[in-house]
Parts: sequence; structure tokens; C-alpha cells
Amino acid sequence: MENQRTELSALGEFGLIRRIQSQAVPHNPETIRGIGDDAAVIGHADGQQVLLSTDMLLEGVHFDLSYTPLPHLGYKAVAVNVSDIAAMYGIPKQIVVGLAVSNRFSVEAIDALYTGIRAACDDYKVDLVGGDTTSSRAGLVISVSVIGLCEPEKVVYRNTAKPTDILCVTGDLGGAYVGLQVLEREKQVFMQDPDMQPELTGKEYILQRQLRPSARMDIIHELRELGVVPTAMIDLSDGLASDVLHIARQSGVGVALFEDKLPIDSMTYQTAVEMNIDPVTCALNGGEDYELLFTIRQADFEKVKNHADISFIGYIQEASAGEFLVTKNGNRVSLQAQGWTHF
Ligand code: ADP
Ligand code: MG
Repeated sequence: MENQRTELSALGEFGLIRRIQSQAVPHNPETIRGIGDDAAVIGHADGQQVLLSTDMLLEGVHFDLSYTPLPHLGYKAVAVNVSDIAAMYGIPKQIVVGLAVSNRFSVEAIDALYTGIRAACDDYKVDLVGGDTTSSRAGLVISVSVIGLCEPEKVVYRNTAKPTDILCVTGDLGGAYVGLQVLEREKQVFMQDPDMQPELTGKEYILQRQLRPSARMDIIHELRELGVVPTAMIDLSDGLASDVLHIARQSGVGVALFEDKLPIDSMTYQTAVEMNIDPVTCALNGGEDYELLFTIRQADFEKVKNHADISFIGYIQEASAGEFLVTKNGNRVSLQAQGWTHF
């Protein structure tokens, strides 16, 4: 099984689509017709607003197949899209997957990719309802689009944070970036001496943060149960500093962040130090953590203050008060979208 290689040409485009179709089992009653016709048919969402987002992953730009397992890549392609729906306080419902593949890929490789896509569909309860398949002369391209739903009064935008709101972040920061640095380092070692085995044991958590990130739908479901609707929200794709500034600038407010409140996992911290990179810089500027950054009213603080996976990292202030980080020794450093170095 492992070593079997079936050429894509043996199945053909339609054979491949039938294979994908036979494995796509819907979770949602709104999915009236999925794969197999000219368009998917989605039931009318009474009173809810429809959220729509798309994200494309290109080989050589967003991923490197020399260290990216295909199931992880499939999972990530879905998770990053679901994360965008989570960041609007929505519930993801359906996805379509566009694929450009060269004959370098076998049927087994596409199966592996779809194993990850299906795992994410099961985790986030979304239905794969269509897509497009085409040949590529260069690298692999995966483009996923997602539909989500949200009650109109609950949709959370980036531009609605207010002074005195509390700035919150889920999970921990910088792990995906440090994981990528480890993978790139081991790739260089391997390219110089293919007999060297990569040194990845003990680094599983940060590698997973890079290769197979999670969308924080768990947090959205919990906030909904607690009756907490954030005042503004974004998912962390570019790095905390840059994404904080997106909220602040679009909302026309200032922000204060506290270095000693930034959640950094111990493996992220240790590995960054080993590699001579500053863990705080990784937390502030490392991208692709896919955690949620949001603001809440002070009145909602009681409801979330004991949540184990939410950190309170700062507050929103008047625009005139500025955008800064308060360092551990009490200095104020102006927040920069990139290139901020810790001292
Ligand atoms: P059309 O020519 O009408 O666009 P296609 O032959 O491209 O139709 O696709 C047939 C069906 O298979 C459609 O439902 C389409 O959405 C679905 N489909 C095509 N490629 C994929 C894919 N890579 N993943 C999931 N569904 C796909
Ligand atoms: Mg058609």
C-alpha cells in the first residue's frame, strides 16, 4: 500500500472527482447537493448572514513539500479558511477546493491530501461540496473557499473596538514561526548531508503549530455559550503586532500591549533561545499561529477571566494615547507591524 503509485492518468479527472465525491459525507442539513452537479446547492439560511472567504496555498510560497506531509497540508488548507470564519464569530458550513496538480503527483498523493481535508471537515463540521481540478505545469496549488453563517447582530468586525475594551488572545504565540525555523534548519542540514537524520524529536508541538494549525472554533462555541460577543476580532495570520494594528487602525483607536502578558509556550521559548532568536519577537512578529485576537467590554471580563486558554494582553485606548508595548522593565516601545526588535 505504502509504496504503491497509481498515475493520475489511470483515473482521469472524472475518476479522481468520483473518488473524492464518494468520500465526502455531509454534516449539515443546509447542504442540499454537494459534489456532482454544475453547482452545489445550499439551503436558505433563515435570517442569518452568509460569510464567504477564500485562501490559496502555493507550493514554494506557502509550503515546502520536502517537509510538509500531504495530510497536514490538506488539513491546514481547510483550517486557515475556517479560522477566517471563526474570526467573524461565524459557524463554517461548506467548502469548495480548487486543485492544480502536475503528473508528479500520484493518486495516492491526492488521497493523502484529501485524508487531511476530510479530517478537518470532520473536526470543524464543514461539508466539502465542490471544487475544481486542473493540471499544473509547476507546483501544487490548493485554493479553498468557505461559506459560514452568523446572526446579523453577532457578526464581529475588525473596526469596532472601543477605548477601555480588554484585548484578549487565545492559545500561545510564536510557535508556528519557531517551528518553521526548525524545519528550515533541518532541511539545510539534510541538503548538505543526506545521511543526516533530522533532529525533530521533542519539537512535535511547534512543528504541529506550523504544519497542521487548528482553527479556534472551540473558542467561538465557548464564547457563544457564555454569551460573550467580542467587540472586534481578527485571526492571527500575519503576527500579533501587525494584527493588533489592523484592529487599532481600522477601529480608529490606540492600544497598549504588555510584554509580560504574552502567552509563549515553553517549547517555543526554549527552541527560540537555542536558535538565537528572541522569543518575544517571535510572539510579536511570527505569523501563522491562527489564534484569535479579540476585544471584549469590561463588563464581559467576569465571564471569561478564568478561561485557561484566553490571555488578557492589553487594552484599547483613545487614538491619541498611541499604540505601544509596555516591556517587562516598564518601557514603552512603539508597536511596529514588522521589524521590531526586542531589547
Ligand atoms: P464543471 O465542468 O461543471 O465545472 P467539474 O467536472 O469541474 O464540473 O466538476 C464536477 C463536480 O466535481 C462539481 O460538483 C465540482 O464542484 C466537483 N469537483 C471538481 N473538482 C473537485 C475537487 N478537487 N474537490 C472537490 N470537488 C471537486
Ligand atoms: Mg458545469
